Amino acid sequence: EPLELCAFMRGIHSRMAPSFTEKKMALNLVCHGEVYIEADPVRFEQIIINLLDNARKYSEEGTAATMQVFKKNGHIHITVMDEGKGIPEEDQAWVFDRFYRVDKSRSKALGGSGLGLAIVKELVEAHGGKITVRSELGKGATFEIIL
Ligand code: ATP
Ligand code: MG
Repeated sequence: EPLELCAFMRGIHSRMAPSFTEKKMALNLVCHGEVYIEADPVRFEQIIINLLDNARKYSEEGTAATMQVFKKNGHIHITVMDEGKGIPEEDQAWVFDRFYRVDKSRSKALGGSGLGLAIVKELVEAHGGKITVRSELGKGATFEIIL
């Protein structure tokens, strides 16, 4: 069934904002007009929440995370961007693999299993989409879904 992405993302924004405020982080959303996609709302929300969990978990206080939705060349793009520690170039190709974690000891302290992004990738592909990451170490990470 068609899902209106801006309203959907506003819902996620209001549910997730308190956990960002609690960490003294800002959560922004940029989405204009109405953008319709074919998606399972429960699974699609799981995608975005996993990305937001990471954005919060791997960032410091005082930084912002931003979700953005836009159309380009007939495709719909959804980005989740943070200003956190970032992901080293050599690890970027592996972060979607099951149980892969960049810094084993630090990650252990933060909790989690290294499954989040593997699930995200599977769910994105089940929706006919692709997900990529780009990052500059120390400056943040951007995950981009293209539908
Ligand atoms: P889980 O999501 O299962 O609780 P996790 O967060 O460690 O555990 P993933 O979400 O799959 O697992 O992420 C894999 C690894 O990629 C993380 O351990 C972390 O090292 C790195 N990573 C993921 N997202 C970010 C991000 N936004 N900024 C920096 N590093 C990230
Ligand atoms: Mg995670």
